[in-house]
Amino acid sequence: MSKQDCYKCGRQLEPGSLKYVIKITAVSDFDGVIQEPENQDIEGEINHILREIEEWPAYELEKDVCQEISFVLCKACKEHFLLNPCGIQDRPVLNNKYSGMIH
Ligand SMILES: [Zn+2]
Repeated sequence: MSKQDCYKCGRQLEPGSLKYVIKITAVSDFDGVIQEPENQDIEGEINHILREIEEWPAYELEKDVCQEISFVLCKACKEHFLLNPCGIQDRPVLNNKYSGMIH
């Protein structure tokens, strides 16, 4: 088994040592609302969207719908990361008012 390094601090993580795989999945969120185009030309709007989709590379479309990243952290870096993964000052993610808002 190969050795790994902590993605954040670079500390070498020996085989069998305590380490964490951080997996982040960004999934497009659909709330069930489709806004009508301002000009009321729904068919024209659909055709416009279809033309855009045909022009986009498949990987870009896939990335727009779902994107996953993962990395390994040591225990200290994992705890620090989970306190504030978005890096927003004074707004920790754990137990905040946004928890449970996913529908
Ligand atoms: Zn670390």
